[in-house]
Amino acid sequence: MNRRIKSPIVGGNWKMYNTMSQSLDYVRRLRSLLEDEEQTRAFVLMPFTVLYAVKTLMAQINCRVSIGAQDAFWEDRGAYTGEVSSAMLSEVGCKFVLLGHCERRRFFFETDETVNRKARAALRHALTPIICIGETLVERETGQTEEKIHRQVAATLDGLTATEVQQCIIAYEPIWAIGTDQTPRVERVEEVHSLIRALLKQKYYDEAGQSIRIIYGGSVHLDNCVELARGENVDGLFVGRDSLDPVTFAQIIRAACAGTSG
Ligand code: PEP
Repeated sequence: MNRRIKSPIVGGNWKMYNTMSQSLDYVRRLRSLLEDEEQTRAFVLMPFTVLYAVKTLMAQINCRVSIGAQDAFWEDRGAYTGEVSSAMLSEVGCKFVLLGHCERRRFFFETDETVNRKARAALRHALTPIICIGETLVERETGQTEEKIHRQVAATLDGLTATEVQQCIIAYEPIWAIGTDQTPRVERVEEVHSLIRALLKQKYYDEAGQSIRIIYGGSVHLDNCVELARGENVDGLFVGRDSLDPVTFAQIIRAACAGTSG
């Protein structure tokens, strides 16, 4: 039986790209390229500086794409120079916050434990945490993928209730696939997603495991998005480089949604 119970979602990660004028122009173009239904399945994670202006513009032009940030601190306020809290993101209209992306782990020493603290804060403020997990090339080549996934699922979701876990999104992002144009085989993606789901079902009972969204990210392009999104346990896609051009991103959203509907 196909367990697909929700329409797939497709998210874009702008990383540290797009000034204010570029962001506003992008949103206008994306709005014009997508049908309403496609917009409701899409989200874009952007730099803090443009979130409020983008949200305001979206309301004016009736754009239904959701927005989010690429990180948030675990405290709501305080003497934490340079940080932004989930409370602040929620106030400006964010729906999502990305946590534990491999670039943050690499350059800013993010760990599964800090991701867990940040996820709790995000949930307190009604944000959907998108929690990134995935193996390195060495871990893949030495057969440690399953163990790594096991460990990361346990650590990043530690202490969350089944209801809270259901409100999260897990992004399976093999580190070796990000920015490299190398992707795992479609069957392998489905295998890892089904492992993640099995772990969640075991720990949080069937309902949470069944309904949590698990999305795939890592060198998703127009020519592989439909196949990648087809897996029974693949609830959506996460796109880096190819979300930077609204035309390409809109094509991916359209193709992935059309290819998995029905
Ligand atoms: C990412 O940064 O999360 C990502 C998936 O990047 P890309 O699509 O460019 O591999």
